[in-house]
Amino acid sequence: MRVVQVGAFRELVVVERPDRTLTPGEVRIDVTFCGICGTDLHMRKVVRPGAVFGHEFAGTVREIGHEVTGWSAGDTVAVLPYTNCGQCPFCRVGNETQCLNGGHNGRVLGVHMPGGYADTAIVDSGSLYPLPDSMPPQHGAFTEPVAVSVRAAATVADLDPQEPVLVIGAGPIGVLTGVALRAQGSQNVVILEQNPARAKIAENLGFNTVVDEDPTSSLNVLGARDPIAVIECAGSANATNTALKLLRRQGRLVLVGLPMKRSEIDIDTLIMKEIHVNGAAGYTRADFGRAIALLASGVIPVGSMVTGVVSLDNAEEAFNELSAAETTHMKILIQPSAR
Ligand SMILES: [Zn+2]
Ligand SMILES: [Zn+2]
Repeated sequence: MRVVQVGAFRELVVVERPDRTLTPGEVRIDVTFCGICGTDLHMRKVVRPGAVFGHEFAGTVREIGHEVTGWSAGDTVAVLPYTNCGQCPFCRVGNETQCLNGGHNGRVLGVHMPGGYADTAIVDSGSLYPLPDSMPPQHGAFTEPVAVSVRAAATVADLDPQEPVLVIGAGPIGVLTGVALRAQGSQNVVILEQNPARAKIAENLGFNTVVDEDPTSSLNVLGARDPIAVIECAGSANATNTALKLLRRQGRLVLVGLPMKRSEIDIDTLIMKEIHVNGAAGYTRADFGRAIALLASGVIPVGSMVTGVVSLDNAEEAFNELSAAETTHMKILIQPSAR
């Protein structure tokens, strides 16, 4: 199998690895498309050499291990990148993200185990979700980020749909969160983004978009009421403090983006305005299923969001393009069959 692995100097290199035999319960997948996630860009700096990224992928079943039922070669699937025990108190009520024996803290594909930056991947059969035959293959690779957004949007599902909700960050997760909010009925979604190219993509998708160093004044220009909720998808402590400034009193702050470093938050404002804070980490199995349904319904603008498709050999180049502050890219997919 050909994989992109992190080299000794943190470079991304394509290497040939021997195919290992499947253990009971495992399935071998031919990866059709795998998304490059912002998390991968950060993790390249910290993972140990030899790691294989890729937690946003879809593929075709190639080989079935012992004790696997219900799947056959040729099935098109999305892969839930984590396993969970199904038994612990969190799993029993459908909060698999917090599984005490897995979930997001356990064995995650592309983080703790080799992921989808490869022509084939070995996954637990319990992680497979069938994709409709009619779904274009690139869409399947969006299941994971859409699931993140579905969960983020669900945290404000009980609010009046007319109330303004601000999403910070027009990267893939921010834009998809905007789409998920609209899909659940929100009629007043504003997206705040510093990068003009990304803001433009959000605007073309019909969102009120603010591109400004001083969002406080821009939102007034838009005539928006103070947002009742802010969903922070940029992973920036500054953005979180902007959110605290902009939020209505007793509003809701939902944190999705991981800053990946210790951050200073304006706790005084948080207390004085009595802000409700929610972390949203990943997605449950139900969210993953909902993401596939949303993709199948055609409301996810995959065509507008994919700004690049690269081969395994060009992963390094794609990382560099996505890491540039003024990147014009939204989502780059790796297509292992491309050369
Ligand atoms: Zn991701
Ligand atoms: Zn569990």
